[in-house]
Amino acid sequence: MERPDSSPRHHLEDLAEFVSASPSPFHAASEASRRLSEAGFTRVYEADEWPSSPGSYYLQRGGALVAWSTSGAHRPSAGFRLIGAHTDSPNLRLRPRPDHQSAGMAQLGVEIYGGALLNSWLDRDLGLSGRISVRSKSNDTSTVLFRCDEPLLRVPQLAIHLDRSIMTEGLRLDPQRHLQPVWSSAPQSAPEFRSWLSERTEVPVNEILSWDLMTHDLTPPAVLGVDESLFASARLDNLLSCHAGVTALLSSSLEAPYVPVLCLFDHEEVGSQSASGAAGQLLPTVLERIFLSGDCTRDQWFAALASSVCVSADGAHATHPNWPERHEPDHPVHIDGGPVLKWNADARYGTDSPGAAHLLSIARDIDIPMQTFVSRNDMPCGSTIGPVTAARLGITTVDVGVAQLSMHSARELTGVVDPARFAALLGSFLSSPRSVS
Ligand code: ZN
Repeated sequence: MERPDSSPRHHLEDLAEFVSASPSPFHAASEASRRLSEAGFTRVYEADEWPSSPGSYYLQRGGALVAWSTSGAHRPSAGFRLIGAHTDSPNLRLRPRPDHQSAGMAQLGVEIYGGALLNSWLDRDLGLSGRISVRSKSNDTSTVLFRCDEPLLRVPQLAIHLDRSIMTEGLRLDPQRHLQPVWSSAPQSAPEFRSWLSERTEVPVNEILSWDLMTHDLTPPAVLGVDESLFASARLDNLLSCHAGVTALLSSSLEAPYVPVLCLFDHEEVGSQSASGAAGQLLPTVLERIFLSGDCTRDQWFAALASSVCVSADGAHATHPNWPERHEPDHPVHIDGGPVLKWNADARYGTDSPGAAHLLSIARDIDIPMQTFVSRNDMPCGSTIGPVTAARLGITTVDVGVAQLSMHSARELTGVVDPARFAALLGSFLSSPRSVS
């Protein structure tokens, strides 16, 4: 088989395609499924009995996906090499009854999802995407993906002439009142949302039962900077890592004994407590089913977990040129300075020294530079799915990701080289015969 072009520029173009195909977590899981399926992975369903024969498989649950391979030399009894990432990003999500009017304009009501940088959603042309549940002919319900890339919505900012305090107090946004997008200047003629959706989907209006829909910025990803050294895009946190994980799994070697597993979870931005989140039963159940299909004993199951390692792949903060004082001065992080190991003494990240040593050794094997992030003591630290996974499964976990600026903005910024380095690091992690101790 011809190896795909793994140059940084080619990787970046592929990442841009992945992000553009994934305006919602449901689309991200579906895009990952499509790529895996095209590469020969077989889809399995949770309600079915799973094949006992070795092979490469995946399952999708809403906005989450788990993929693994028991082909080649991979043996469940040897343990797992897991990559975890998340498909969701902070955004504005449509309310169940979205139709609203104010000052003679039609609006759609939204809830704020996750820790969005609210200012970044102002004055952007927004599309709408997600999934819709409809009643089918047999009176069952079915779920379909929906996406509209037309400029449907916009959250208009208040003119500075009407808010002089912005100069002295900064921008202050009330999340209930100030983030509602406009949908039409003519409420008398604008359609109700459900009627509009019915027309778009060709589903009768009374058969549209419910939805999980959200807004997305329509500006496409772009390379920028005088030397084209920066890459701007929506949802880099954390579709960059999802894409790196899919790329890594598809390029991983069949020679390693460990079973490679890719887990793309939903709902990390709101605490992971859901059926498709990292704190739920999804991953432990899937791992146990993979294990049982290998005809192993319960004792071997615990031994396999003890030999397993998880990389929690998520964005890292680069040192901001305008706010360098917000960063720990002895741990600067540079855009394109290499993947970033994230440490926290209070275990907000999963990294510990054996896990860090394991990943640093692999990076050294393939000559990839690594950086180190730690928060200031006077600055609360974010978190990832790493500690949740470490606690649930009791396996060695390392938090690592690509340096970026503007995390949780509607449009984030990273470098042009590190996305490819990160995918190479994750690929070597899945393929390495190194054990952890
Ligand atoms: Zn993240």
